[in-house]
Amino acid sequence: MTTLHVPIDSHGYDVTIEAGARSRCGALLLEALGDATGRRILLVADAAVSESHAEDVAGSLEAAGFEVAFVTVEATESNKSLEAFEALLKAAAGQKIDRSGAVVSVGGGIICDLAGYVAASWLRGIPVFHVPTTLLAMVDASIGGKTGVNLPLPDGALGKNLVGAFWQPIGVLSDPEVLETLPERERSCGLAECVKHGLIADWSLLDALREQAPDILAGRLSSSISLIARCASTKVNIVSGDEREEAGPGAGVARAFLNLGHTFAHAIEPLPELGLKHGEAVAIGLMAAGACACALGHWHSEESELLQDTLLACGLPISLPGPIKRGRLIDRMGWDKKVRQGTLTIVVPDGRGSVSMLPGPSLDLLEAGWSSVGAS
Ligand code: NAD
Repeated sequence: MTTLHVPIDSHGYDVTIEAGARSRCGALLLEALGDATGRRILLVADAAVSESHAEDVAGSLEAAGFEVAFVTVEATESNKSLEAFEALLKAAAGQKIDRSGAVVSVGGGIICDLAGYVAASWLRGIPVFHVPTTLLAMVDASIGGKTGVNLPLPDGALGKNLVGAFWQPIGVLSDPEVLETLPERERSCGLAECVKHGLIADWSLLDALREQAPDILAGRLSSSISLIARCASTKVNIVSGDEREEAGPGAGVARAFLNLGHTFAHAIEPLPELGLKHGEAVAIGLMAAGACACALGHWHSEESELLQDTLLACGLPISLPGPIKRGRLIDRMGWDKKVRQGTLTIVVPDGRGSVSMLPGPSLDLLEAGWSSVGAS
């Protein structure tokens, strides 16, 4: 078992990583809340795991004395919406979840973000406890308290995570056994965020990923457990230093570093013609950010090639799957949450295992990034 503590200002919490631990969810929630008497839990389950892992979690909550109201949501980006958010708030009302209650999410990043935002908003905020069921959510989305939903934009595509709140969980329970049912393509998506963590703070992680990717993609538990612990601890260290993404350019540790590749990724992920999953869009975004690092002289071709080899070993794309214009993508970047006073900031590698923020990147630089992944 690995326990990581997240020492943030509002309240500290633990991230527990342990095979088989979903059956201990009730006990951990009891520890976090003090007692179970009269406490009703809104369990928001990903439909893909509602009859398996989420049932196990519900059973353990009931065994610990909690009353459980079970709701399921189909995990799609178009369902990570204000409509689904409203439906869950109405479920909380219908189930009479009061301020002594809590939300428990059981699912991937979509469910963590959606259920977390419901917890942040219901009765002006009740506790949320995450039980992530994808690799991506275990190493990234469940930790750090970013919650929210997408919003349709004037160009017809979704704007990623434009509505939301910071709302820290009271605990996270990652049981790597649940990854046995996760499709291989989704395991690859989780590895994209692991590569990102390596580029930000742990360069040797790239070597480990190239070596261990076959084991992880095949679902071998021991490799997955050590990888989850290593990547989750990188995320914990970064969010602990800058809980609400307030550190600006020049800061040693900035939560905004976690946006590496994402400013590019969020422009392409919602475009239906590309058919990309979040982790795949992040992989392409990391390649574009790497190309920017080369154009700025921070990286040489050796670093770019290592990144490319690592992504390929993880089963991830390194270029866009179809034709698309750079101008359209640069335009879409203007909706990014990191635009301030009309100026975009991107995160670029500035060495091996280190990154920095670049406010106001030139048009030439953005074009170089997009060209490197095949935009015309
Ligand atoms: P996801 O939640 O869409 O899950 C991927 C797919 O796997 C879904 O079809 C889901 O139903 C299925 N699934 C989940 N667990 C399963 C299991 N154990 N067995 C079988 N199928 C399973 O995707 P994701 O990659 O986990 O998360 C991506 C989302 O996370 C994006 O919306 C992204 O914006 C968000 N995100 C948030 C943060 C954050 O800090 N809040 C960080 C990174 C990503």
